[in-house]
Parts: sequence; C-alpha cells; structure tokens
Amino acid sequence: MAVCDLILKGGLVVDGTGAPPRRADVAVEGERILCIGDCSAYQASEVIDVGGEVIAPGFIDVHTHDDWAVLNTPDMSFKITQGVTTVVAGNCGLSAAPFVPREGLPAPFGIVPGGEARFASVEAYSAAVKRAKPAVNVRLLVGHSSLRAGAMQGALERAASGPEIADMAQALDAALRQGAAGLSSGLDYPAALNAPAEEMITLARVVASHRDKTYTTHMRDEGDGVIISVKEALETGRRSGARLVISHHKCAGRANFGKSQKTLPMIDAAMREGDVAMDVYPYVASSTALIARFLPSAEEIKVIWSKPHPAMAGRMLDDIAKEWGVSREDAVAQLQPAGAIYFDMDEGDLQRIMMHPAAMIGSDGLPGTEKPHPRLWGTFPRVLGRYVRELKLLELSQAIHKMTGLSASKFGIQDRGVIAEGKRADLVIFNPDVVADVADFDHPERPSQGISHVIVNGAIAMANGVQTDAKAGRFLS
Ligand SMILES: [Zn+2]
Repeated sequence: MAVCDLILKGGLVVDGTGAPPRRADVAVEGERILCIGDCSAYQASEVIDVGGEVIAPGFIDVHTHDDWAVLNTPDMSFKITQGVTTVVAGNCGLSAAPFVPREGLPAPFGIVPGGEARFASVEAYSAAVKRAKPAVNVRLLVGHSSLRAGAMQGALERAASGPEIADMAQALDAALRQGAAGLSSGLDYPAALNAPAEEMITLARVVASHRDKTYTTHMRDEGDGVIISVKEALETGRRSGARLVISHHKCAGRANFGKSQKTLPMIDAAMREGDVAMDVYPYVASSTALIARFLPSAEEIKVIWSKPHPAMAGRMLDDIAKEWGVSREDAVAQLQPAGAIYFDMDEGDLQRIMMHPAAMIGSDGLPGTEKPHPRLWGTFPRVLGRYVRELKLLELSQAIHKMTGLSASKFGIQDRGVIAEGKRADLVIFNPDVVADVADFDHPERPSQGISHVIVNGAIAMANGVQTDAKAGRFLS
C-alpha cells in the first residue's frame, strides 16, 4: 500500500472553483495534495476524521495591510483562526518595500501602527519573511505612495514630474521582477491625492507589461465622487491594459447610499472588454487613519488609537469632543496621529457588491491597533455564517470561490486557491452549521467559531480549533 503524510477522511469538499460540494477524502503528501475522492489506496501517518465538515482551499485574504504583522507577530492568529492561509499585503498605496526611509509622511503612511520597518527591495522583504517564518503565506503588492516617497523630493501633495515618474516606473519594474504581485494605489490619501490619472496610467502600463500582474486601487473618492472615481479606475485599467481590482468597493455617506446600482453596471460593461474585479469586506463600517476630510460621510466615528491620547482608544469622537469642549475638527487635530472606525455604509450596497460575480472577499484589517475594526478577526467566518447560512445571500460554493479560486486567479497566485491533485496543500476544515464571527465592535479580538483545522503548505497550523506552532508560510513570488 502506498503511504502518504495525511488523510482528511469523510469531508464535504468545496474545491474553490465554484463547483458544488461533493463527499470526498483528501490525501496530502509533503506540501501537495496527492489524491481527492477515494484515497483508500493510501495509508497515512496521520488521519483526521473530518466527520462531514467542509474541506475548502485555505482562504486568501486579498486585501490586507499585513506587511509588518507577518514579521512582528508571525503566528498571525487573527488570520489562521479565520481559515486564512495566504494574505495579499501592500494595499492602498502603502507597502513595506521598496522604499527609502523618510520621516513625516502623510497618510496612508502611519495607518498601520508598528509598520515602520522599510525594506529597500522586494528581495530584501522576502528574505525577512523567510527569516520570520509566518504561519501564513504572503503575496506583496507595491504601493504607489511608497514609490512616490522613494522617487520624489519634498512634499508628496503634488503631481510627480516626468523624471520622478520614470524613477517610479523603474523601481516598480524591478519589484515586479523580484516577485511582487502588482501595484496598489491609495488615491484617497494625501500622499497620492494630487497624483493625476496620467501618472497612474503610466505606472499601470508597467504592470501590464508583465505577465499575470495586477493593479489595485483604493479610489480617489468613495463618497460623493464614487461614480467619477470608478470611471477613472476603469479608464486607467482600459488605457494601460492592466488587470484592475477596485479595492474595498463601497459607497460611503448617506447621500451616496444605493449608488452601487450605478457603479456595478459600469464594472459589468468594463468586464466585457478587460480584466476587472473588486474586493469587499462584510461590514457597513470602514476604518483607517483619523482624517478630517473623512468626517462628513460618517454617521458615527469611533477612535481606535491615538498616539498622544491612548486612553481615548475605543471612545466615540463626539463624546471626546464634548468632554473636551471642542469641535469635532479640533478633537481630530488634538488626537493626531490617530485611527478610527467610520460607520458610513448601507447594508443594501454591501450585499449588492458582495453578490457581484467579480467580488472577492478581503478583510482590509488593520493589525497592531488598540481596538481594531472586527474585520481583522472576523471577515471570512462572517461571510460564511451571516451571509451564506443566515441570509442565504450566497451559495456556499460561490462564497468559497470568492475567498479562494477567484482570488488566486486575480493575484497571480499559482498552485493555490483550488483543491486539485498536485496543488499546494493549503486547506481549511470548518463546520458550515456553526461557523461564525464572534469579534464585534466592543470585543474586536475574539477568534471566530466553527473553524476546526487549517493546513498551510501541508503543515497543520490549527487542529481541533487550537492553533499549533506550525510556521509554514512563504513569500509567494
Ligand atoms: Zn484602502
């Protein structure tokens, strides 16, 4: 009888392609999937009786700011406990590499507390990941604002010059050759707000000149200007020829509720001509730096960290302003640097966007904050519990596809995202009747329930709901 390392017995395999669930065993040898279906020809040194639970590809979190967390907190519990086995880092224009150290930069710099370390090249960053041995795999996007900080002298609140754009293009090209997944922008933040569309098109053309790379964008305006911003993003994709992913698509601010009924048909039309997708997280509140410009779109704002006033973490901005006897704007100024949660979205838009065939799940979680947005710990189980089981908004196999197969295909992740013989053994086992997020806005760091086992590159990272010491994650180039 042939031998192998591990057999998962009696599972309901949801393979990540969108195909319906099927009863099957899965056998693993080394880092790869050896057999799916009847694996009785193999004898394994370890057998896990799955007892009818779902076996899915490990979830790919396509929208993260985990560049530093994988180095600083390599156990990555907030991801492993959700069944996430790969994170795409470097989103919203900010990445740990490539970057020349420089002080006093505006947002998105500073949105990730603990995100100070900079690496001169993607190669240097990938070496640091290798040394840190994180529990999850890491794919890295190159941040446009990070490129700007390296190429531009002085303030970033201006358009880059021709020679500066040429420098950025060269650095981007080198980063892509060293294994970066693509380019991300954060045009809503001061570090890139003044970058004209032409600057992005020039850089997105560099992305398009490489095989299987992606341009992701946190658009210039997700509130009153959301429609014109979608138009700009689609235009950048079309004119550059780059694959486009619209980051955390939303319509922020009461005046803009329902506008996804306009933006999604625009995306549908663009998908007929080019490669366009988006990511979304399952909450009606956003989170980033505390910035005065973002105040008007939110009904309520919760401060989650403040360097000069750490005691204000977890308090509502209005209460702080009242207590201090100052305006909201003055309170914001005194709290700097700070981060916040903005309650600024409509459930109808969220559901419409999540149901769209081109929407992937990405948490946008911000690690390292005092009172993080619960999406950091709860995103994937929340989709499976609330939106699949309770609201029946998505079929299970559809939802899994948005967390795995679709995600791998949009971020050039080879060999992962689907369960097939010969693929890497990144797997999650969960109980579909129980899986749910437990983290909420008052208790954001609670692990989810219903995730039984997580396997990363063939190593068991979680067994019977308890995380192991396995640190089998890689930098994915
Ligand atoms: Zn963003």
